[in-house]
Amino acid sequence: MAPTSPFDFTGKTALVTGASRGIGAGIAEAFARHGATVLVNYLPDPAGAMRAEAEAVAARCGGGAEAIAGDVSKTADVSAMLDAIKAKHGGLDILVANAGILRDRSLAKMSDDEFESVLDVNLGGVFRCLRGAAQGALREGGRVVALASVAGQVGFFGQANYAPSKAAVIALVKVAARELARKKITVNAIAPGFIRTAMTETMPPEVIEKTAEQVPLGEWGEVADIVHAALFLCSSGARYITGHVLNVNGGFHMGT
Ligand code: NAP
Repeated sequence: MAPTSPFDFTGKTALVTGASRGIGAGIAEAFARHGATVLVNYLPDPAGAMRAEAEAVAARCGGGAEAIAGDVSKTADVSAMLDAIKAKHGGLDILVANAGILRDRSLAKMSDDEFESVLDVNLGGVFRCLRGAAQGALREGGRVVALASVAGQVGFFGQANYAPSKAAVIALVKVAARELARKKITVNAIAPGFIRTAMTETMPPEVIEKTAEQVPLGEWGEVADIVHAALFLCSSGARYITGHVLNVNGGFHMGT
């Protein structure tokens, strides 16, 4: 009998939050290429633009992939999304909590709304999805990957909201790894460094060049670098890895 690839996700159902673009879309498409049925979560907007984006991602995924609406900062949305998945697919095998926002401002100028909205999406969104997973949305032996950030490990200027939200994701992942271990569910974080996506493309070229000089591998990362890390952490090959923070940052930060 031919050995099964650890990256064969045939028969698995995967939810990727914030998958209408960027890293989330890349992860969704990769899981689909490896056989999973993928649910492409998007943040609904009145004009329906994000639904169209998510449907385009789902179409590229194929294999029964579907776009699924839900604002991860809203408990009712996350509950409705997970209930719909349970009704249609019986549950999830893979949860990638990827949705995240940036609202940078120096500490002196940051409003309560700028602080709270980032915490609510970046940390609250991961919490709500993980809580749903703990309440039974994720099947025994399931996998969770949450997107943290190097910002949560080192703290960047202007990110008094974003950096703590990502630091707290790292702590939350460790708590969930302990709590879900009895169901043989693994919970890990990926901490990307500087990755080229829409979230970062607004940065001035000189800043991109300067930051690249501080990266031992000498360049920014690509979406594919994060995609490969997510595939590995959700693979059968990673069955004994939980509560881990996988740095994908070209060596920019080497600690935990
Ligand atoms: P991105 O291109 O801005 O994509 C973020 C995605 O999250 C978008 O699809 C966005 O939808 C969605 N989203 C935002 N708020 C949401 C909500 N309330 N509910 C559901 N979805 C929501 O960002 P990215 O660069 O791919 O980043 C993905 C993750 O990696 C984030 O958690 C980010 O913090 C983390 N990360 C990125 C980098 C980097 O260099 N790019 C570095 C470290 C960590 P809309 O399109 O509707 O806004």
